[in-house]
Amino acid sequence: MPGYLSPGRLVTIASTRLVPRATKPMKRALKSIQEVVDSKLCSGCGACAYMQTTEIRMVNVLDEGLRPVTAEDTPGSTIDTSEALKVCPGVELEHPDFAHQESIEHDLVDAWGPIRAIWEGGASEGQIRFAGSSGGAASALAVYVLEHLDFRLVVHVGADPDAPYTNRTVVSRTREEVLRRSGSRYAPASPCELLNLIEDAGGPCLFIGKPCDVAAAQKARRYRPNLDRNLALTVAFFCAGTPSTNGTLELLQSLGVPDVDDLIEVRYRGNGWPGDFVAKAGKGEEYSCTYDQSWGEVLSKHVQWRCKLCLDHTGEFADIAVGDPWYRTIQEGEMGSSLIVARTDVGKRCIESAIKDDALTASAVSPDLLPKSQPNLLRTRGEVWGRLLGARLSGAPTPRYRGLPSFGFWLSEVPVPRKVRSILGSMRRCVREGIAFKSMF
Ligand SMILES: Cc1cc2nc3c(=O)[nH]c(=O)nc-3n(C[C@H](O)[C@H](O)[C@H](O)COP(=O)(O)OP(=O)(O)OC[C@H]3O[C@@H](n4cnc5c(N)ncnc54)[C@H](O)[C@@H]3O)c2cc1C
Repeated sequence: MPGYLSPGRLVTIASTRLVPRATKPMKRALKSIQEVVDSKLCSGCGACAYMQTTEIRMVNVLDEGLRPVTAEDTPGSTIDTSEALKVCPGVELEHPDFAHQESIEHDLVDAWGPIRAIWEGGASEGQIRFAGSSGGAASALAVYVLEHLDFRLVVHVGADPDAPYTNRTVVSRTREEVLRRSGSRYAPASPCELLNLIEDAGGPCLFIGKPCDVAAAQKARRYRPNLDRNLALTVAFFCAGTPSTNGTLELLQSLGVPDVDDLIEVRYRGNGWPGDFVAKAGKGEEYSCTYDQSWGEVLSKHVQWRCKLCLDHTGEFADIAVGDPWYRTIQEGEMGSSLIVARTDVGKRCIESAIKDDALTASAVSPDLLPKSQPNLLRTRGEVWGRLLGARLSGAPTPRYRGLPSFGFWLSEVPVPRKVRSILGSMRRCVREGIAFKSMF
């Protein structure tokens, strides 16, 4: 194990950066987790269920996502959820002021968050690279920290064996377990609900999740010293939004699956790049379609409302973020490839060390490749400003952001018709969702 990147070192550094502890908390308009859910601001991360384990659990609301309910499960329940509310990423997200931080790309920070360096590549091991969603970078890093850096465990997400068209939060301690859970799953997931396993692990751990999951974990560590100590590394993947379970059910139906209870495996992508959506049933029947058909034609239409108001689609709160290098056309049969973004010094050292030890095969690339790879996400950031305005004009509650600018991108990146649509469409959606006027009462 390289001395400069010992787990202890990772823990020490990981626990002294990130969101500032001393800033004044933002005033919260929403008073309970139930109000977050009712305002459709829940992203389903599960952090509330971690903070108040005995009082809150996550349930799958088919047309929305995983949602917290209080143990009593009675409407109007009086359970105090203020502990949970403190870490809710649906309500507010805040960056520190990066202006005086050296070694970050200051030209890109407003649009893409802190970036220390970017690589393109993937897992050195062919099996991981093939199985992974893009280049298998997240899985390769997970195997690397378990096998080379003495990490205790990885908390992440895999298919629920009882209903593989849904997800389950899982813990992996071996390469086989990590490999089994590789691949992006475009369905609701609440990985923060098992942060207690990291808290109790007695050593360094890795957490992998969506940008909102990682942001929630970073908030939670401020209140839980053992979590702060053990959460040595966080990896987020780029995310345009989580579709509801109904999205997957519609897709399965359109592919002719007669009975979802008969499914033994559902993969959304991976096993090639980007890889097909494949569902397998008990008697060997297989139902599949391309990534463009699954995400582009069906799943993306079922993305939850909170994701439409999200300003962090690229894992800005993580140590490492991974995404697809869509800046170029994928060649037939090409090995998967990931953009691997170091957002903190800890993340940068971990990537460099994984490359040196041949867990990752990746080349440093110009940070410009990030905007070139995800031009839609830059436009989305602008559109979110319009959507937030539309939601506020309709009287709907909205998340509060500090240090994640968007107005400039609304001006520069969003064509005029979409500018109008971002505001009016948002107002219409708030009425449809039944959340218009909610913040007025
Ligand atoms: C909902 C969703 C939206 C996405 N939107 C974009 C996008 O806009 N742009 C883009 O470039 N890529 C997007 N992706 C894909 C993802 O960012 C890339 O595939 C990324 O490069 C990860 O590839 P990898 O090969 O390194 O990961 P892998 O090595 O395959 O590992 C993936 C890891 O993610 C975890 N995971 C899978 N699904 C979930 C989930 N739903 N919630 C939490 N953890 C999960 C797994 O447990 C695994 O550890 C999206 C993925 C999802 C699930």
